[in-house]
Amino acid sequence: MKLKNAFTSKLPNVKTTIFTTVGNLARQHHAIDLSQGFPNFETDKNLINLVSNAMKQGHNQYASMPGFYGLREIISEKIESMHGKTYHPESEITVTVGATQAIFTAISAFVHPGDEVILFKPAYDCYEPAIELNGGIPVFVQLDADGYQIDWDKFKSRLSSKTRMIIINTPHNPTGHILNKKDMLQLQEILRETNIIVLSDEVYEHIIFDHNEHESVSRFPELASRSIVCASFGKTFHVTGWKIGYCVAPEVLMEEIRKVHQFAVFCVDHPVQRAIATYLKSPNHYLELNDFYQHKRDLFLDGLKNSKFRFNPSKGTYFQLLDYSNISNERDEDLAKRMIVSHQLACIPISSFNVDNRNDNMLRFCFAKKDETLKQALDILCTF
Ligand code: PMP
Ligand code: GLN
Repeated sequence: MKLKNAFTSKLPNVKTTIFTTVGNLARQHHAIDLSQGFPNFETDKNLINLVSNAMKQGHNQYASMPGFYGLREIISEKIESMHGKTYHPESEITVTVGATQAIFTAISAFVHPGDEVILFKPAYDCYEPAIELNGGIPVFVQLDADGYQIDWDKFKSRLSSKTRMIIINTPHNPTGHILNKKDMLQLQEILRETNIIVLSDEVYEHIIFDHNEHESVSRFPELASRSIVCASFGKTFHVTGWKIGYCVAPEVLMEEIRKVHQFAVFCVDHPVQRAIATYLKSPNHYLELNDFYQHKRDLFLDGLKNSKFRFNPSKGTYFQLLDYSNISNERDEDLAKRMIVSHQLACIPISSFNVDNRNDNMLRFCFAKKDETLKQALDILCTF
């Protein structure tokens, strides 16, 4: 049987993700790993105890399909206190297997074959395959490497009668850029006369620097009425391996999302939901994240001020882009590979997030690491 010829790949151009290939190479060469975005410090023991208590108390069977109600209630309260918008726990909040599943489910629920979905590039890598698997057509707006600001006129010119959805991400992976109030008002205005759905990836909502505010779509009533917001407890509570997040949306959208969610996963890890519901009751657990990560960003950038790398300080996320134009003419993926193999330091080449793998001479470094790890990485970067 020649099984290989018996089917057509649904994703012929998709390869193993950059995070897996770079991560594997980093392990092989025992490199300091600032590539994939995950913390290398410990998770709060209190949170771990809450999970094990929930297990001991017997919460070991399926949770309710949209998520443990107590967790949905506290998510609703948190959004209301931060953004002044009420999402009803019964009908407008669903707990998911990380933001990845929320994004995949939302795209699957609304994108029909031939529908266009607008993406700003560079973009995190999970949006495009989800659109294509559903027969949708990704339409790109490539941002300029000089600041990665959104040109809203350029965006407007990409809208068509086939546009079903647009995906935004703030704070933005990989650039560390954030959308401000003016951006959100422009978006709200441009979409006013349309039926376009907004998928807003806000997984880094609690990692924002220099006293900037996170401008969630939930803050803008007209935008919120057409938007799905995705969030990740993995990012907020240093537990990326637990794969837990959620999405919120008006009931009319959430109804469709749950039709897909119930057959994709049905429900999410029950004891972890119980634990997070209790942990979320102390706002400090997420409000102190800005200062915590700003210290790390500043430590990282301070160590680079006499280096040949150039940078605009990241405004949010735990990623920092470094421009290596003063150092080398190599393509970013070649330099990233050389850094791992010859210098034992791993990062992500940003071309993998750009249209046609455009090379911006930028590398992405994750600073969600112990201070000592960052200092070791700085010693290496300063040799370039
Ligand atoms: N969106 C962005 C922008 C991300 O960086 C990530 C990475 N984790 C995700 C979504 C996925 O989040 P999760 O790990 O909760 O699935
Ligand atoms: N969000 C993480 C990053 O950008 C990666 C998660 C993954 O490997 N899919 O580094």
